[in-house]
Amino acid sequence: MKTGALAAIATAVPVAWYTAAQAQTSKPRNAGFYRFKLGQFNLATISDGVLAAPAAAFAGDVTPEQLQAVLRQGFQSETLTPDCNILFVDTGTHKVLIDSGNGNLGGDTAGKLLENLALAKISPTDIDTLVITHAHPDHVGGLTDPAGMLLFPNARYYVPSVEWQFWMDSKVSLPKVRMPEEAKQTVIAVAKKQLTAIQDRVTQFKVNQEIIPGMTALSAPGHTPGHVALRIVSGEASLVHTADVVHTHTINLWNPDWQPIFDADPEQAAATRQSLLEKIAIDRTLMFAYHFPFPGVGHITPREAGGFDWEPVSWQFEG
Ligand SMILES: [Zn+2]
Repeated sequence: MKTGALAAIATAVPVAWYTAAQAQTSKPRNAGFYRFKLGQFNLATISDGVLAAPAAAFAGDVTPEQLQAVLRQGFQSETLTPDCNILFVDTGTHKVLIDSGNGNLGGDTAGKLLENLALAKISPTDIDTLVITHAHPDHVGGLTDPAGMLLFPNARYYVPSVEWQFWMDSKVSLPKVRMPEEAKQTVIAVAKKQLTAIQDRVTQFKVNQEIIPGMTALSAPGHTPGHVALRIVSGEASLVHTADVVHTHTINLWNPDWQPIFDADPEQAAATRQSLLEKIAIDRTLMFAYHFPFPGVGHITPREAGGFDWEPVSWQFEG
């Protein structure tokens, strides 16, 4: 990206931000952000809205009867509406977003990140660090506007090095993903386009490396080859952002071995899911889940029948 273009973004973004905030006043709606504390850090879940997906897509290898039993127990229908929860972290030194949501790629119910940041009184120009867990469209679509301009013009972008190399390779393929070839090609094209858009501002990182003080990448491969979770620590308090290790608080949390159709390596993803969730449950760590019901903050406990139960936190009303 040329310097002139960057300068243009810096002036364009606040206008878009303001317009988005104004648009919100016309229609009644619920809160699109939720603030909470983690030690000395101020965090917020910023909603990017919801997607719509068939429940069967999260359980590619089970019978309809097995899936129906879970949906009935979880009071869910055959179409799920996974949330897209973006974690904002203000460490006092850095203002961080983890992933960028869908942008204009997720339909009318998604792509709400800028609107909800505005409602939370956070400007995109304030974000100095944007950490990407993996390069799927619902996580990197919101890096740019439809014209390809960066929406977080002052950010440094942190991408797992394995993830960067996988998608930017000239011969990417997704042989184990059980989606139509056309859909796979779209996923690949979006990853390449969005990573290319940030390439002049990227720092690649490795797992177990501290990205900024208080934030460390955890190995979590399978959903994509370079997919990571993140550990955030402030004083005695800690949280694990599980990104797309687990997609639903019912189907995949109760049955970590059930395989969503979009995992790059379903076996590896299931092994990652089981081991990371087990550790979180044993350590009783606070968990943040990108696709769980808003605001995606809670704990997990082992279930007698196998898998884990989701225990959402009580809201903190005083920031
Ligand atoms: Zn996702």
